[in-house]
Amino acid sequence: MTDNGNNDIERLRQMLDEGQRFVLTCHTNPDGDALGSTLGLRQVLINLGKEATVVTPDLPPSFYSWMPGIKTIKIYERDTETCDRIIDDADVVLMLDYNDLRRVKTLGVKLSSVEKPMVMIDHHTDPQSSPTLIFSRPDAPATCEVVYQLVRSLGLEQHIDAPAATNLYAGILTDTGGLSYNSDDPEIYLTVADLLRRGVDKPWVHDKVFNNKSLRRLRLLGYALGRKMQRIEQLPLAVIALSAKELERFHYNTGDTEGFVNFPLQARDVIGTALILERPDAIKISTRSKGNFPVNEFAAQYYNGGGHRNAAGANIEGDFEATVEEFIRNFSEFYAKWLKKESK
Ligand code: 5GP
Ligand code: MN
Repeated sequence: MTDNGNNDIERLRQMLDEGQRFVLTCHTNPDGDALGSTLGLRQVLINLGKEATVVTPDLPPSFYSWMPGIKTIKIYERDTETCDRIIDDADVVLMLDYNDLRRVKTLGVKLSSVEKPMVMIDHHTDPQSSPTLIFSRPDAPATCEVVYQLVRSLGLEQHIDAPAATNLYAGILTDTGGLSYNSDDPEIYLTVADLLRRGVDKPWVHDKVFNNKSLRRLRLLGYALGRKMQRIEQLPLAVIALSAKELERFHYNTGDTEGFVNFPLQARDVIGTALILERPDAIKISTRSKGNFPVNEFAAQYYNGGGHRNAAGANIEGDFEATVEEFIRNFSEFYAKWLKKESK
């Protein structure tokens, strides 16, 4: 953690003791870790006798509708007045799985004007906000793991019941591609073991996380890999770009392309990959890599984005076709520079 000695844990304990109402927030286009960490911690707080509400900036993808407690979520973009009231009435605001208020759209504007204790719990590098307390562990595979460790440090693990454990486990699973990447630390398996002991129905969660796609979504994946994936020149880079028109053709809903960006890495000779989507509000860039190829540095240098070494992203504005062309040039340039540095 950022390090967070006992003092920070004690301050958090005090906030938990003294506060009654808690709001838990996460990033836009919430993924399994964003939802799992907020819903999991919410459940722990409720088990402690607190009032706790999860507020997401926008609508969570429908394929997460099985997550315990998901129906209680308030969506800021849809229900701004109610959410503003809940935030105003809260004693403490928790920020999970993001480290920059610019990543939470209009909810971020609201949160930047809030004058009450704010606690960030996250695993992204370089926090860009200054809340009251930060528990930041960039080495952790998922924010759910950070939440789990914090709850244990507070000695509150008896409050991790089956619904809480299910959420935390789901976040760890989704942020590591089913424990395939970012999951070399043996500690994570101790967490998983403990969560399973607390009542996670593993086959059920696996089914919900991995076998829960619509045929429409599978067809879009087929199209993306079969028709749209392009290898950049002779480089170990592959890019998939999907225009608004193409997405529309497959009746795209938010989250439908989640995970697509990882597929090209299954090719032996691909170490860097990107998915570029033309969405109504922005062009969304997602990048992934194998090994030491630092896509977060690429996203930061060229697109003011960020993330982790092997998974990063950015949101930009501009003409789609031109952006894709420029992206391919930039990605190649960055790769060449990186390779030169690596081989020194
Ligand atoms: P994804 O490609 O799944 O949307 O995002 C992968 C990772 O990249 C996220 O965990 C997040 O850390 C980072 N990321 C995605 N979009 C942005 C962005 O617009 N700005 C920044 N700073 N990071 C992003
Ligand atoms: Mn995460």
